[in-house]
Amino acid sequence: MSFEIQFFGATEQVTGSLYVVRANGHTVLLECGQVQGGRNEELQNREPFPIPVSDIDAVILSHAHIDHSGRVPLLFKCGYQGPVYAQLATVALCAIMLPDSGYLNEKDAEWQNKDRQQKGMDPLQPLYTKRDAEECMRLFRGVKYGAALEIVPGLTLRLHDAGHILGSAIVELECSDSDGKRRLVFSGDLGGRAAPVMDSPQKLRRADLVLMESTYGDRLHRPFADTLQELGDVIKSARADRGNILIPAFTVGRTQDLLYLMAEHFDAWQLKDWRIFLDSPMGIEANDTYYHYRHLYGAHLFGPDAHLLGLPNFHATRSTEESMSINPIRSGAIIIAGSGMCSGGRIHHHLKNNIARAECHVIFVGYQALGTLGRRIVDGADEIRLWGEKYAVRAQVHTIGGLSAHADQDDLIDWYSGFEDQPPLYLVHGEPFAQQALAAKIASRLGAVAAIARNAQTVEIKLAARRKRRWA
Ligand SMILES: [Zn+2]
Repeated sequence: MSFEIQFFGATEQVTGSLYVVRANGHTVLLECGQVQGGRNEELQNREPFPIPVSDIDAVILSHAHIDHSGRVPLLFKCGYQGPVYAQLATVALCAIMLPDSGYLNEKDAEWQNKDRQQKGMDPLQPLYTKRDAEECMRLFRGVKYGAALEIVPGLTLRLHDAGHILGSAIVELECSDSDGKRRLVFSGDLGGRAAPVMDSPQKLRRADLVLMESTYGDRLHRPFADTLQELGDVIKSARADRGNILIPAFTVGRTQDLLYLMAEHFDAWQLKDWRIFLDSPMGIEANDTYYHYRHLYGAHLFGPDAHLLGLPNFHATRSTEESMSINPIRSGAIIIAGSGMCSGGRIHHHLKNNIARAECHVIFVGYQALGTLGRRIVDGADEIRLWGEKYAVRAQVHTIGGLSAHADQDDLIDWYSGFEDQPPLYLVHGEPFAQQALAAKIASRLGAVAAIARNAQTVEIKLAARRKRRWA
């Protein structure tokens, strides 16, 4: 049997997930994510795929976040015509998110080309267009949690709930031939214990090799009650300051968590005097998808008529005109807008109108990658640049980390410890210091070895003698 994995993306970094699985002569791409960060980091997306596109027999996605799915349209543009397997809700979310990503690529190329033209440089093509993204959706095949599907001869795919965002999956691949069976398990992004909307990640028992994310491998989220207290306190103090609150949010997942929490704490956080805006066409469509697939999680987010429960002052601003109508509001608006790391989207307009005003508050509720505008603000920049103009940062900036839809160090160790016999473990999707801290903790707590996946490294999935006996 030949069964191996090669790591190409999200090695010693948090975005751009991409792994190649080779099983008995077939090649499967596990994840096809986009590198996200500053302009320099994102140049990596323009490098050719690490293997010939014509070699790829199938693609599997763990979930819809762009750092896991964002290069599928590019793969399609490069000639890929095979299937893309993902959980059904992930397919629905990709149909929203990938065209939006294509649109942002077009805008970004347009913007960069103005600059390039002045410098006498050749124009840049967008990484892919909205249309590429819309067209690539016909390759997608929806898979239910738990269903076994032979995707290439001798390789069976099963998806399990990862509890991270709607449709997020732990990917299990079982390779079988006359030698027996071997199993590779990839965590995808795992949800934390405190994720308000999604259920807990499913624990698996058997694997011959485990690939695990490590985004928050060096951190423990604070008790969730403390996080809620802090968020409530910020909202209440912002009310006394009589400014606005901006919340840059990842439109899928974090936004639904926030809305759910606001409804749950509506009175305690004195929300009735605010106007709460979801200023994101994609966030609004994601809400519709969360409604459609509400059987996939336990929380009661919606009433029977698809309206959000418990938020009477909620406004979904879909059109540009509706969005612009928020601009003159000087006080009493809570504006949730993407992108989550402030690397684009409508949040730029709201930063422009509010960041230089001391009575305003900006609340970061998610991870800010190195090189992004969000990271610069969080790291205490005195001024920022938007559309070539400088704006002083006078608004009060808060980071509330406990709302992460990611597992923390304890969650990750707990999930891995669910496997029998400590299968070989490789860490991906984390920055080096987070991975080293997690590996050290796994060694001291479980006595297990966690290797850090290196770029282009290949690992064979072997059946360990101890496990062979037990599973016989
Ligand atoms: Zn994710």
